[in-house]
Amino acid sequence: MLKKSQAPIAIILLGPPGSGKGTQAKRLSQDYYIPHISTGDLFREHMIAQTPLGQKIKEFMQSGLLVPDDLVMEMLFDRLARPDCLNGYLLDGTPRTLVQADELAHRQDPHTVVLVLCLEVPDEEIIKRARGRLVCRQCGVIYNRDISPTIHENKCDNCGGGVYRRPDDEPEVVRKRLEVYHEQTKPLIQYYDHKGLLTIFDGKQPPDVVHAELRRYIDSRL
Ligand SMILES: [Zn+2]
Repeated sequence: MLKKSQAPIAIILLGPPGSGKGTQAKRLSQDYYIPHISTGDLFREHMIAQTPLGQKIKEFMQSGLLVPDDLVMEMLFDRLARPDCLNGYLLDGTPRTLVQADELAHRQDPHTVVLVLCLEVPDEEIIKRARGRLVCRQCGVIYNRDISPTIHENKCDNCGGGVYRRPDDEPEVVRKRLEVYHEQTKPLIQYYDHKGLLTIFDGKQPPDVVHAELRRYIDSRL
């Protein structure tokens, strides 16, 4: 990829759970040769490696508490210091609070091109998508009754295993998750909008269309 500027790029991806954010994050990370950093993955990585940070994180998670900002940021900056972040990085699931956003802004290389991209999908659409989701018990492939059904009813195309609906995809559970998301994210959206860094994308469109729009926008900013 040809870059007009040599400044590192920081993409902060926002969007509700079920908006397809993870899929877009993966693709953009490949397009721009920048690592896709998700706090969820970092938590798991540290816990599996049993680092001192991982031990602390585990304690909070096991007591059902939110991992405090300073711990999240310590873990994040440790990750951002690795050499693969030299050209930039894509953050998925961080920052989650204003304290985190501020800290990130302060510690970022001042030349970094910061792009905050928000995928907007109406709650009802996310609930509808979740309602149709079917997961293979054996191989974990995900189907959707309405969009990408299995060829044979209730049987995985990939391995022939049984498919089922996850309890996590029940409308009331999804609704609760969306409530938490909106409550957490609203201040962040205002914060980034105020700084002129926020761009909103229509995440209701097919994934390829969303991807093309994101790319066009990012390219225009490099
Ligand atoms: Zn399967």
